[in-house]
This record gives sequence, structure tokens and C-alpha cells, in this order.
Amino acid sequence: MNSESDEKKEEPVYVGFWKTSRFNFNDLWKDYPEKNSAKEDQTDLIYRLQFLERYSPNIFYTDYSKCRICNSINGCNEYHYKNFIWPGGYIHYIKDHNVNIDERLKQFLLNIDITKPIINDDNYF
Ligand SMILES: [Zn+2]
Repeated sequence: MNSESDEKKEEPVYVGFWKTSRFNFNDLWKDYPEKNSAKEDQTDLIYRLQFLERYSPNIFYTDYSKCRICNSINGCNEYHYKNFIWPGGYIHYIKDHNVNIDERLKQFLLNIDITKPIINDDNYF
């Protein structure tokens, strides 16, 4: 199965979930983020991600997550948009630790129209 290259796939794309002692039960979770791994300025991508988060369903956990780099409390929610799922704390890694944004999410963000509100009518569950 080659779901990575299938643009019509409906499978969820998990972005920014790091392995922990509690959540390492499958290979969707990545190794810890690498600080300063971004090679280019991500200011525009950060803006676009914040824009998308404004229009994305937001699920709150009963617990919070800690930053894998600086150990600060970092989010207690996750966002869902189309088949992307990412934690509320993901942007902290990009903004404050210059972690390279996930390439799949990056390509998606570069293609959204940020000049008008996103009408999100196909994502509620
Ligand atoms: Zn941090």
C-alpha cells in the first residue's frame, strides 16, 4: 500500500506527534523533534498554520503535553482539518525551536487561500 503518494487518500495524516513513554504504540509517532532543523525562514508557514487553526475543529484532551525540547507545558488539544491531525503545541516547536515543519503539511499550507475565511464543511465528526 502506498498511501503517501495517493492524493485522494482519506487516511489521517498525523503531524507533530512525538513518541513518548505513553504513546509509542504505533509508527505514526515520530522521534523527538530536532531543534533548529529548519533550513529556511518559516514565518509565512507559521502565519498560515495559525490561520488554518482558526478554522479547524479543535479537540481538547483531559491532559496536557510537554514540549520535548524545553519541557514547558505545551498544549492540551489537537486540530483536525481534512485528513490532517496535529497537536495544538505543534506550532511552538516551529516558532520557538525552529523545528522543520512537516513537508506534507507545508505543501498543504502553501496551497490554502489565506485571503478569505476557510469554509470548513466536510470535516465534522
Ligand atoms: Zn519548547
